[in-house]
Amino acid sequence: MTVKTTRNIRRVSQILFFVIFFWLILKTNFEINFSGEGDITLPYPVSLFLEFDPLTALGTLLATGTLYKGLLWSLVILIPTIFLGRFFCGWICPLGTLNHWISEIPSERLKRKGKSKINSNRYKKYQRIKYYIFLIFIAGSLVGTLQIGLLDPLPFLARSIGTVVLPTLHTTSLAIVTWIKSIGWPPLGDAAQYVFNILTALILPFRQMHFHTIFSLGLFFILVLSLNRVFTRFWCRGICPLGAMLGIFSRYAIFGLKKDESTCDKCNLCLEHCQGADNPEIGSKWRQAECHLCLNCQASCPEGSLSFCFFPDHETTKTNPAPTRQVDITRRKVLASVAGGLALFPFIRSGDAFDANPNPFLIRPPGSVEEDWFLKRCIRCGQCMRVCPNNAIHPTLMESGMEGIWTPILIMKIGYCEPTCTLCGEVCPTGAILPMTSKEKVGDKDNPPDRIGTAFFDWGRCLPWAMGKTCLVCEEWCPTSPKAIFLREEEATDRNGNTITIKRPYIEPDICTGCGACEYACPVIDKPAVYVTSVGESRSAKNQILLQRKGINKS
Ligand code: SF4
Ligand code: SF4
Ligand code: SF4
Repeated sequence: MTVKTTRNIRRVSQILFFVIFFWLILKTNFEINFSGEGDITLPYPVSLFLEFDPLTALGTLLATGTLYKGLLWSLVILIPTIFLGRFFCGWICPLGTLNHWISEIPSERLKRKGKSKINSNRYKKYQRIKYYIFLIFIAGSLVGTLQIGLLDPLPFLARSIGTVVLPTLHTTSLAIVTWIKSIGWPPLGDAAQYVFNILTALILPFRQMHFHTIFSLGLFFILVLSLNRVFTRFWCRGICPLGAMLGIFSRYAIFGLKKDESTCDKCNLCLEHCQGADNPEIGSKWRQAECHLCLNCQASCPEGSLSFCFFPDHETTKTNPAPTRQVDITRRKVLASVAGGLALFPFIRSGDAFDANPNPFLIRPPGSVEEDWFLKRCIRCGQCMRVCPNNAIHPTLMESGMEGIWTPILIMKIGYCEPTCTLCGEVCPTGAILPMTSKEKVGDKDNPPDRIGTAFFDWGRCLPWAMGKTCLVCEEWCPTSPKAIFLREEEATDRNGNTITIKRPYIEPDICTGCGACEYACPVIDKPAVYVTSVGESRSAKNQILLQRKGINKS
């Protein structure tokens, strides 16, 4: 097989894995499929790609001391990396592929010729940064704060596509269709609707989703993609902690670049086309840990002086140094990164006294583990947010402190938790939300339901309480059996001193599951007269209504 064919296979592989990744995100969408027990399940293993992520596996393992079921798949990437090098970066990673494509779009930078073009593609010191980022995250995981999801490429791309790109596409297409229809020429309106229906069938979710904090997520995504226009695959070369991890694991790879000095005519085409900036040209130390195995150097060499093979001959000559297996980091900075990572936990936690001052509106999805563990497991992939049929789950900004940025919370005003739905637990790749059946969720006479909080009335805003007007909406929407919201007929006095009879709503906290249907449906639109807080959530022994308040441990 010629090297050009191999390079084309690499291109096909990149397209294929990108399409699979994208398709799985599209399928992280409410599709009716009832299991034997009557549960709603998804027909595809939509979080499979995330389960193959070695950085997620390592981070959660260090933070929790356990490896959540599917994450064992990460060995499928990790073990071959030890022998082959960073093949994942060049052949599989969907963010790497996107970076690659964006870097290759014709631009002034790519049109540059000669030295400046070649120099821009040589190994640069900024490429060390990713190793320090990796070390900070790993040290942070060791002491119990899992921050890898912020920059891990797979969760990063999944949440960016799921919560930014697709909802924005949906809004834009809806706006275009509405505008075309407003022109008032029916054939054009029908055609636009037809195209929109096709788009809905292929790409868009069954309903328009809106996500809180989309601005911060979108800005970050645009920044990452734009930097590819300045440096080829900037993220992969300088930022990606997964790339750094794979670089470290590929240190002793037996597959590598062999250079034939005698035939090289120093055209530097290899350097011009290198995706990893690992110095493949003769005369420089090839940096194994930076190579993405894109094979561009070999394919672009007109003299055939470069070839990839097992056990390459790495002899140093006068004009060509042997490659280096070292990752280019200094001991002092390694220690500083580790110290920084270790300091993350006390730094972050000292600002948020979760136990003494919990955020009452930090309502996690049903099945979530206790908050401390949740923060050790959630990689902010956004899968739970995307799959929720009611658009109830949103990324936080600061609601769970700095430590929990972009982790999921429920905002009941936007959507409530469907009583029999358990999809968020099904798609969570790390066990931050545990799977359960709908029976477990609603409970029965022997087992309590899974509670995510408790509803309370604001009598100053509730129509029957504050204004003497009849309203049964929350009672009607309450899905528990028996209903947690009940009505009592009571006598009240109107402003003229007349006695009137009115039904007023009350809550039975032991029955309420905190699903938020009442808050969602309350006709007092701006700030509902019934609202849910996290107190009473099943996952916490402390966040319970009748528990005595604990003092802060000052020791
Ligand atoms: S460096 Fe990171 S983002 Fe780039 S290809 Fe490798 S794993 Fe993917
Ligand atoms: S929050 Fe409730 S409705 Fe939304 S996915 Fe989870 S279980 Fe389903
Ligand atoms: S809780 Fe949601 S965002 Fe966090 S890892 Fe699970 S699915 Fe991803």
